[in-house]
Amino acid sequence: MPLGIYISVPFCKTKCSYCNFASGVFSNAVFQRYVDRVCEDIERFPQTAKEMGGVFERQVDSIYLGGGTPTLLRPEQLQRLFETVRQQFSVSAHAEVTVECAPGTLSAEVIETLLACGGNRVSLGVQSFIDQEASSVARLHTRKITLEEIGRLRAAGIANINIDLIAGLPHQTPKSWMESLRQTIDSGVPHVSVYMLEVDEDSRLGRELIAGGTRYHAHFVPDDDLTADLYETACQALNHAGIHQYEISNFARSGFASRHNLKYWTRQPYAGFGVDAHSMLQAEADQIGLDAIRFATTDVLERYTSGAPLIRTPIQHHAACEEAYFLGLRLTAGIDLEELVDRYGPSAADFARDQIADFCREGLMELENGNLRLTAKGRLISNEIFSALLAPRESARIET
Ligand code: SF4
Repeated sequence: MPLGIYISVPFCKTKCSYCNFASGVFSNAVFQRYVDRVCEDIERFPQTAKEMGGVFERQVDSIYLGGGTPTLLRPEQLQRLFETVRQQFSVSAHAEVTVECAPGTLSAEVIETLLACGGNRVSLGVQSFIDQEASSVARLHTRKITLEEIGRLRAAGIANINIDLIAGLPHQTPKSWMESLRQTIDSGVPHVSVYMLEVDEDSRLGRELIAGGTRYHAHFVPDDDLTADLYETACQALNHAGIHQYEISNFARSGFASRHNLKYWTRQPYAGFGVDAHSMLQAEADQIGLDAIRFATTDVLERYTSGAPLIRTPIQHHAACEEAYFLGLRLTAGIDLEELVDRYGPSAADFARDQIADFCREGLMELENGNLRLTAKGRLISNEIFSALLAPRESARIET
């Protein structure tokens, strides 16, 4: 099965107030050290896969350069990353090659570099088309800049564009949210991601929400109920516009679902490079009882560049089956139980049987022709459902 490659670039022009990712504002010297280290890791990946006990796969059909803001790297640094990937792996001619970009950074030179690197998909961290909302969380772009850049990308031949939106930003109201959705739909992009703002206590906005204050607009953050309403409105408006929901947070016009992200939800193999990057490879045949090997890099930049070891997590067959449920249920299409039994054995059909029956009775899940999925009502509280599915299994494990 072809591999997906993810490269994390943890550099940003400014730090968004809600963000707790392993990202920050750094100098050019740090960029260079980082690119050197990522390229070394890409070059030694066959060896790493072997040491981890995973199957090395040379064929690649998706590359995702995420951030942070990868386009802050110099053109030659970006090109070197892609060249190293192409030297080490066999990248298919039709591979999906996505680069995350912050609106306001897409100069003609950057777009030219994306094309030179084989980029054919751009994910724009717009978050809101209302300037006050974007600036309140320290985003640097405006609606005008974003629309101009979408036009420039199209003119350069990159029409496969994703817009990220966040429901629950400070100052957001049902009216302003509808305006962001209308602008998103009118822009004609084929893919939209909608996230509900989850404020981590380690972010500046999170600390202000706990301790009080006005600097990061914490007092203008909508409450959880309103945020959930905004998310529901987005689902309805985007589906109505032909941008269909295919995952809890993702919507696409026909044929534009993200190939790369689908790998995560359907447990296809992928390799991650850079800080806080995760890989999952099929387990080698001699790894008895194991389905897959997951391994991850440290989430601390200095530790990563100084060569911190990988963190390895072997995945046994029963754990792989649980993952298949949790990841597959994120998809609107849900999971095909027969396929699961074929892949993980007869006990796959018994996973959390009683709870799933309860959720079906409550209208949170539905089982149709052997296909299990969350309903629209269920998608709204997916985190609670996943925790509830996990809870009895966790306590069962502690008891044994
Ligand atoms: S651009 Fe993304 S990674 Fe960077 S601070 Fe903002 S949310 Fe975080």
